[in-house]
Formats: sequence, C-alpha cells, structure tokens
Amino acid sequence: MFNKVLIANRGEIALRIVRACRELGVGSVAVFSDADASAPHAREADEAVHIGASPSRESYLRADKLIEAARRTGAEAIHPGYGFLSEREPFARDVVGAGLVFIGPPAAAIAAVGSKTAARALAATANVPVVPGTTDPLRDATEAAEVAERLGYPVLLKASAGGGGKGMRVVRGASELAAALESAKREAMASFGDDAVYVEKYIAGPRHVEIQVLGDQHGTMHALGERECSIQRRHQKMIEEAPSVAVSPELRRKMGETAVRMAKAAGYVNAGTCEFLLDANGDFYFLEMNTRLQVEHPVTELVAGLDLVQWQIRIAAGERLPIAPLMTEPRGWAIECRITSEDAGNDFLPSTGVISFLRVPGGPGVRWDGGVGAGSEIGLHYDPLLGKLIAWADTRDAAIARMRRALLELTIVGVETSRDFHLRVMDDPDFQAGAIDIQWLERRLPSLTTGDGTPDGEIAVAIAAALLAESERAGRLAPAASSTARGDDREAWRIAGLRDGLRQP
Ligand code: ADP
Repeated sequence: MFNKVLIANRGEIALRIVRACRELGVGSVAVFSDADASAPHAREADEAVHIGASPSRESYLRADKLIEAARRTGAEAIHPGYGFLSEREPFARDVVGAGLVFIGPPAAAIAAVGSKTAARALAATANVPVVPGTTDPLRDATEAAEVAERLGYPVLLKASAGGGGKGMRVVRGASELAAALESAKREAMASFGDDAVYVEKYIAGPRHVEIQVLGDQHGTMHALGERECSIQRRHQKMIEEAPSVAVSPELRRKMGETAVRMAKAAGYVNAGTCEFLLDANGDFYFLEMNTRLQVEHPVTELVAGLDLVQWQIRIAAGERLPIAPLMTEPRGWAIECRITSEDAGNDFLPSTGVISFLRVPGGPGVRWDGGVGAGSEIGLHYDPLLGKLIAWADTRDAAIARMRRALLELTIVGVETSRDFHLRVMDDPDFQAGAIDIQWLERRLPSLTTGDGTPDGEIAVAIAAALLAESERAGRLAPAASSTARGDDREAWRIAGLRDGLRQP
C-alpha cells in the first residue's frame, strides 16, 4: 500500500478522498489555489500544498505543479478525483512518466474511450449496441444534412471531446442544422479546444442508466449494478439513484455483462462507468464511458456495501479484487441530491457569497459528502456543487421520505441553494412513482421552480427556530450580509421573523 497519496482536486471529492486515505492508513496531501486557502479539503488533509492562483488553469489544471507537489511531499500516487485533469490522457501519462502511480485507468484506456467517437467505434467492435449515428466527426454541413436525413429528425449534434453537456445541440429539422452545427463547434472549441462534432439520433423519452465497473490489474472485472440518472437539466444530472425502477435482475445482468465487455475491450483497469440510454422496451444503447470516479458514486457504495474510493486506491497499489462477484443484487435503495449554489427560482443562476451558517443533516441512513463549511466563500471560479446529500433506506419510498427529512434539516445560510428545488422533486407524484425519463425534468421545471420558501415551511421554520436559539446562545447570530440578493433576503427575513416570534411571550 502507498504511504502517501496526493489529491489533485478540490471541494467535496477531495475531502471524500482524504477520508478514504485515512481509513486505509494512507497519508493525504491536498492541493489548493488562492481561493481555497482555508477550504475544508485543504484543512482536513494531512498536508496541503499551495499550487497557484484561483483560476483552475493556473492551479488545478496545472499538471506540472501537481506532479511537482507530489515529488516534494513524497507522495507515491495521485488521485485525480473527477473533472479537472481526471480524464486527460496526457496527465495520466505524465504522472506515470514522473515515476508516480495514477489512481485510475492506464493512459491507453483513457485514449481508447476518451473521445465519444473513438468509444463508439470500439463499442461496435465489442458488439456493444450504440445509439444510431456516425462514428467519425462531421466534415461539414452538407455531410451533416445527409446523415441527419438518413437518421431522421430529431438528431443530436455532439462534441467528440464532449462532457458536461457542452457542445450538444438538438436539431428538430433541416432548417436548423447549419446554425446548430456552427454553434456546437464553437462551444466545443471553447470548452475542449477541439471542434470535432458528430451526430446521433435523438432518442425521445429514454432513461439514463449507467453501470459501474471495477477492474484490477490482474484481469478481474466486476459490474456493480446500475445508477438511474434521468433527472437532468440541460443534459446534466441533478438527482441519481440506485437501483433503477426500470431494471430487472435479468436486465441488470445483461447490462452488467455489456459494460464489462466494453471495459475489457478498452483495456480498462480501476473504477469506470458505462453510460447507456434505456428505452421503454428494455433495449439499451451505449453513450460513453467515463474513465474516472463519478460524482454519483455514493449511491452505488450504499447499495453495494463497499467503498469505491478505497478500492480505487487498493487496485492502483496492485491489490487483487475477489474473483466472486462483489455485489449480486443491490441492497435497499439510495438517492443522491446534488446541492449547488444555484438559484432554481431564477433559472439556476449561480449564487455567490459567504456561507454564514451550515447545518448538516444526520440521523439514520443519511450521508453528507460536502466540501464547504461555515465561513466558506462561494465564488465563480469553480463548479457550484457545495455537497451531495445521500439517503439510504430499505425501499424506494422510505428512501424518498428520508431524503425529504434530511433536506429539511439541511440549512445553508448565505448563498441561495438548490435545496428547495430538491424538496419539490421529492414531493412530485411522477418522481415518487418512478415515472421519469431524461426529458421529464425539463418538462416539469416550471412547476418545480416556482413558489416561495420551502414546500414544507412549518418544519423548516421549526428547525430554523432551533438554529436561531442555538446561535443566539452561542452569541453569534448568523450575519445576513452577502452579495446574494434573493436567497439571502429570504433567509434573513425568515430569521428576523423567527427572532421576533421568539421574543413574543
Ligand atoms: P456529456 O458527456 O456531455 O455529459 P453524454 O453523451 O453523457 O454527454 O450525454 C448527456 C445526456 O444527454 C445523457 O444523459 C442524455 O440525457 C442526453 N443524451 C445523450 N445522447 C442522447 C441521444 N442520442 N438522445 C437523447 N438524449 C441524449
């Protein structure tokens, strides 16, 4: 096992990896930018190294500085987390070239599935069904029109190097095609430095179901069941669960075998995810392979009863996975809500400010993977993910009830958050029935983002009253001043109201 691991990331995932290291008895080295000088991930790690200015390209994206920090602190391995450099083949190669271990797949496996078009071509050779479309980038608008005509509208233009829903355009008819191609290329170039765009048939009403795989360096590869990630806005996941209401044990086995076949074809090692679209007939189509830990990995951990981050580190250190399946059937049900500093009532506009008060939920079956604390300044340099709230219970209904309870306990003062939006989803009859697909949220958004305060104001107010009493006792009333307007006003109003209420006889 390693003595020390450097974590080339920030926020909740860096803290998650620190925790895994500590449980394994492995030392941890955090890195931080100017903006993150007092961030929880830097405080919690055994050591922390300053790597540059706040913009990512001057810090978390600087491979040279990260490798130098590992050398200087004597770390033997680098865990990239997700995002930033985690899926960049040159980074994986440079880490190994510097005599360090990359906690992830071999650089060649990243190359094999790193671009969506390369992955589609590989899938075809491995007998893995893909969404109908091209495997080569489009040459020009004329070729795009020919392919789109053959596939039939609507079609989806996608950046080969894509990620995070960037460089994607739905095209509903021939007249929109040329302009959509131009703007997809522009966005792809700006986001990935690569303007290659290809086309897929746009599938109406499928679910996004992905399979977690885990393989060691000795040829053992397991599938760890599915995650349902259909609750998306602008092609980005917001709520995930495991298992999926749409997946039977038989389908789970079939999708698992397909994912393992794909991963083996790529020469894959460590934790990875094969994403699929699943239609109402139970047919599924490969979308892409993510060659890293997923944001939503905790739901799998809870129903599989294992620690994926610890396995990533153990596999990178050469340990063998058991030959027997790590998980046969999922145990219970897990749901994750991504809590972001975004104002759902205002088109999910990012909210900035200082978190003046944070209360993390607790109790049975509740997990908070957070990256912020009271005093954290939320700016615009990084992703707006503040933390992930995960609830586990025996059944899906009980997991929803538990998530609802936990969301009500979660109190963040100082920035607007997506908490209330998540509460409304938990209360939605379609969601409760599991009647969701990847376009469901966009259809439903108008009714999920309007209304004031929490859907269950009374409980929230009761909790806020307890918090107020607590902070008054401690002589530190949460300051309401910050640069966020609406959310803060609402919290300030709520607290002021409570204070008056408390003072009344
Ligand atoms: P990215 O890497 O940018 O996240 P993905 O290929 O993973 O892109 O797709 C993101 C989401 O976009 C999917 O989860 C799905 O909801 C939607 N999507 C992707 N391909 C299609 C398609 N062919 N038809 C309909 N929706 C799609």
